[in-house]
Amino acid sequence: MTTHQHTQQRTRAARQTIRAAQLLGIDFAPLPTRPTQHQHQKPHHTHAPDPSDAPQPLPFTAPPTLPDTQVEAKPTAPPTAHTDPNDALEQLRNRYEQDPHTAATLIQGWNNIVFSDGDPARSQLMFIGEAPGADEDAQGLPFVGRAGQKLNEMINAMGLSRDTVFIANVLKVRPPNNRDPSETETAADGPYLLDQIAIVKPKVIVTLGRPASQFILGSKEPMGRLRANVHHPTNPALAATPVVPTYHPAYLLRAYTPDNRRKVWSDLQLAMSILNNDS
Ligand code: URA
Repeated sequence: MTTHQHTQQRTRAARQTIRAAQLLGIDFAPLPTRPTQHQHQKPHHTHAPDPSDAPQPLPFTAPPTLPDTQVEAKPTAPPTAHTDPNDALEQLRNRYEQDPHTAATLIQGWNNIVFSDGDPARSQLMFIGEAPGADEDAQGLPFVGRAGQKLNEMINAMGLSRDTVFIANVLKVRPPNNRDPSETETAADGPYLLDQIAIVKPKVIVTLGRPASQFILGSKEPMGRLRANVHHPTNPALAATPVVPTYHPAYLLRAYTPDNRRKVWSDLQLAMSILNNDS
């Protein structure tokens, strides 16, 4: 790498640090990490870094053994390898709309199916939430309300823009009064989410909050135990995609403490380290 490229990379890292500071609170903003060294990190890492360690490269250790496979959800019908991802996604949506056994038939009172946002052909990072809220139900797009604005800030802090990531939920329609998805509803819509993952083939998945994290990991563990780790789920539907659980942006808005902000930023850094790893 030339000195000029190196300087550019450092400048980008500094800009990202400022964005992270704006999002996450200047009181614990991480110092720039070193992208060139990130690229040499091995994919087998896990525990979240202590932000006070910055600016050194994140101190990853061997992956812990985590109980990720208690419940194994299955996809509806994996797309064939030759289908264009955008076509495959459209076909999947059509299938969802015609399927009488989805949450869309179990739940009354919703206005729009909220299937996904993002380009399945070029998204390396996929965020998964639990279910649409009122704003999403009105617009037919995931994460467009207040939680969505916070998610956008998180994405920007990672040095990315929203149009380069893929966003979906476990449930494709809004449960009444934003209640938690029931097990039946999750079982009905979850397979479509697995199909979406198979179409997008992200390099890393970030699950937002407990329902999404527990569904994807097939776990009943609370968020406090799931987050701060990179999981390697054994469910074949996930094709060994690394999963980083973190707190839901709506929770972050409700409990906007330095500690929670630091934890979320630390989780996002885990996801970034996977994205920046060239292997
Ligand atoms: N919360 C979610 O989990 N998903 C959305 O799309 C919006 C809010």
